[in-house]
Amino acid sequence: MDVVIVGSFMTDLMSYCTDFPEPGETVHGHKFKKSFGGKGANQCIMAQRLGGKTAMIGRVGDDGYGIEHLEHFKKHSVNVDHIYKTEKEQTGVANIIVNDKGQNCIVIVSAANLKLNENDLKAAEVVIKSAKVLVTQMEILPTTALAALKIAKKHGVKTILNVAPVPKALPDEIYKLVDYFCVNELEAASLWGNPVNSIEDANKSAKEFIHRGCSNVILTLGKMGSVFVTEAGINPIHIPAQEVKAVDSTGAGDAFVGSLAFYLATRPDLPVQEIIRRSNDIATASVLKPGTQDSYPYKKDLSHELF
Ligand code: ADP
Repeated sequence: MDVVIVGSFMTDLMSYCTDFPEPGETVHGHKFKKSFGGKGANQCIMAQRLGGKTAMIGRVGDDGYGIEHLEHFKKHSVNVDHIYKTEKEQTGVANIIVNDKGQNCIVIVSAANLKLNENDLKAAEVVIKSAKVLVTQMEILPTTALAALKIAKKHGVKTILNVAPVPKALPDEIYKLVDYFCVNELEAASLWGNPVNSIEDANKSAKEFIHRGCSNVILTLGKMGSVFVTEAGINPIHIPAQEVKAVDSTGAGDAFVGSLAFYLATRPDLPVQEIIRRSNDIATASVLKPGTQDSYPYKKDLSHELF
C-alpha cells in the first residue's frame, strides 16, 4: 500500500433554497444533490485518483448509503477489506442547506464513524504496516485516531494528522506521533488560541505546533496557498497557490491532504516544498469545478509534470 486512510464516510445531502428557513418554517428548495463525502473518504479518493495504491479503514452503517460508499470505493479500486458494516447503526450523513447567497448551514451526524475502534485497527494492522503513509482526521473519535497513529509509528509508517474538525479535546500525546500536521487557518486558530489572519500569524501558530511535538506543520490558507514549517527549519516557507477564478472550494482541504499523502508515499525523492507545491496545484484544480469528490481530478487529466 502507498496510503492507508483511517477516517470517515459521510453521505452529503445538499438542499438548495432561496433563503434559509426560520425555526419552525418550511421552505421550498429548488435543487437537491446527494454525493459522497466524509473527510477520510474524500482524501482516500483523491490519493487513489492520482494513481496511489490506497486502503481505507472506516465504518459505514447497516443501510443503503453504506452499500453505495462500498460500491463507489470498489469502483475506484481502493482496498476495502477493512471497511466495516456497523450493525444497528446508520452511515454518517451531512445535511447541508445552501441559500442563493452561497452560504450554508450544515448538520453532521457522524453515526457509524464514531464506532470505529481500536479492535478494528488491530484487525487492520497488517495493512497499516504495509503502507508508506497513514492519514487520519477528526470525524472519528480522537482516541481512535490516536491509536491509529501509534500503530503507524510502531511500524515506521509516516503519519499525517489533519485536525479537522477540531475536537473539544485533542490528546496532548498526539502531537509527538505526527510527522505532518496539517490544518487550515481556522483550525490552526482554534488549536493555537489566537486568530490566524496573515502569513505571519500562520508562521507563529505553526511554530507553536512544532513546539508541542510534531515534526512538520503545513497550514493551508485557501487562495493564499500553504505555509510549511519543519522542526529543523529556522524559517517558515510560504508556498503560494496559483491564481484562479474559484467556482467551489468545498473539499479543497481534503484534495490537498490526499495529494500530500500520495506524494509523500510515491515521491519521497522530492523536497517537501515541491510536494506541497504540487499538492497546492491539485487542490487548486479542485476549486475550478463544483462539488467535493466530483471536482477531484484524475491523473490522466493532469499535467505529467506533476508526476
Ligand atoms: P479547507 O478546505 O480545509 O478550508 P483551504 O481552503 O485552505 O482548505 O484549501 C486547501 C488548498 O486548496 C489551499 O492550500 C490551496 O492550495 C487550494 N485552494 C483553496 N482555495 C483556493 C483558491 N480560491 N484559489 C486557488 N487555490 C485554492
